Amino acid sequence: MKTGLLILFIIISMALSGCAPDKPKNIIFMISDGCGYNHVDAASLYQHGQTGVQIYEQFPVVYAMSTHSLTGKPYNPDSAWTSFNYVKRKPTDSAAAGTALATGVKTKNRLIGMDSSFAILENISERLEKYGKSTGVITSVPFYHATPAAFVAHNRDRNNYREIALEMLTQSPLDVIMGCGYPDYDDDGKITKMDMTAEFTMDSALWKQLLDGYLGNDADGDGIEDKWILIDDRKEFVDLSANKTPKRLLGVAKIYSTLQSERNGDSLAAPFAVPLIESVPTLEEMTQVALNILDEDPDGFFLMIEGGAVDWVSHANNSSRLIEEQIDFNKSVEAVVDWVEKNSSWNETLLIVTADHETGYLTGPGSNDSVLAGKGSIEDIWKPLVNNGKGQLPGMEWHSHKHTNSLVPMYAKGPGSAKFSQYIIGNDPVRGKYIDNTSIAHLIFSYYH
Ligand SMILES: [Zn+2]
Repeated sequence: MKTGLLILFIIISMALSGCAPDKPKNIIFMISDGCGYNHVDAASLYQHGQTGVQIYEQFPVVYAMSTHSLTGKPYNPDSAWTSFNYVKRKPTDSAAAGTALATGVKTKNRLIGMDSSFAILENISERLEKYGKSTGVITSVPFYHATPAAFVAHNRDRNNYREIALEMLTQSPLDVIMGCGYPDYDDDGKITKMDMTAEFTMDSALWKQLLDGYLGNDADGDGIEDKWILIDDRKEFVDLSANKTPKRLLGVAKIYSTLQSERNGDSLAAPFAVPLIESVPTLEEMTQVALNILDEDPDGFFLMIEGGAVDWVSHANNSSRLIEEQIDFNKSVEAVVDWVEKNSSWNETLLIVTADHETGYLTGPGSNDSVLAGKGSIEDIWKPLVNNGKGQLPGMEWHSHKHTNSLVPMYAKGPGSAKFSQYIIGNDPVRGKYIDNTSIAHLIFSYYH
């Protein structure tokens, strides 16, 4: 058969059989919040004494990704590498970035799952639920924060935590939600008397209903209410990573705002010098629980995993804790890869590892704009991190306490990942070909439309 005819024959056969050969059955979407290229390198230098060796850096599909929200301007590579402060202008927040990643639509900062005229946008979880898949979101920060919220909820303001938590727990079809935000515990995992009227705390009535086992809604459309099973002890998390699992699980670690990054102790100490809190699970442990529950579904699943505190420590420009947080995220990616290779395969599971934006404008020491205006090369101005050897803090320099418009990395492996090449929108002189943050949802929706 001639090539043209053969292709036509394949297309017709695929249409008749109703299946695309590269349609992913399971989709796992991992987001290190605030992680730019140098965040990855900082953790790699500490973990391995070299860069380029993370498991996701070996994935077959690697592109850069632009992150601007509707409030900002599209990334311009020429401006980004000729003006030191260009990437600081009008960056996205995690609400708009999360919404773009979860729905494929750009919106204004602060909005969750809504476009700029407040119309509700369908997210990946909702779409894939229609195809009978199980869905979950997990994070190292409160479960009702912007990134997980964008994959579940719809709200005019990311700071409406109570409304968002209520929607996630009583109106969503989600099967697994895990994170922090336990009202009775402080950031060291100690019992505290929390002010339940505080803005950042879940509604006390909602929390009581949850503790009493009354909270839920009909998640699977069979007319029967599906109650949340709440787990909070680390032992319960670890047990559920292997044993029989409940149908619907809410895991809230016994800590207030993040798993580890806000714990007391010398914030300038070397990574892991301040002992980790033993009573809370790691993101890696939560990941194993989520996979153990969701993989029961023969129709497949969608899971979003967020290293949320990478952003928090980057706002604080805390190099040691950035390394701790990114290592926990890296281990979670390794746990997912391990799960795919033991329990699934790269023929049925698509794994995407990326960030929602860069935070902190992290570079190597001595980077500055004094040699700009044609006097210096890009390498003279933006210096790489300094390798001080494995187990040692690399040389790092922060230039902002906020988010930036810098391109972030996007790594993908599994069915459908080759299709990312169709979404390339530009070529950056340093980071190479890049896509936009709306493209991930567009790619997923191209298989599930
Ligand atoms: Zn942030």
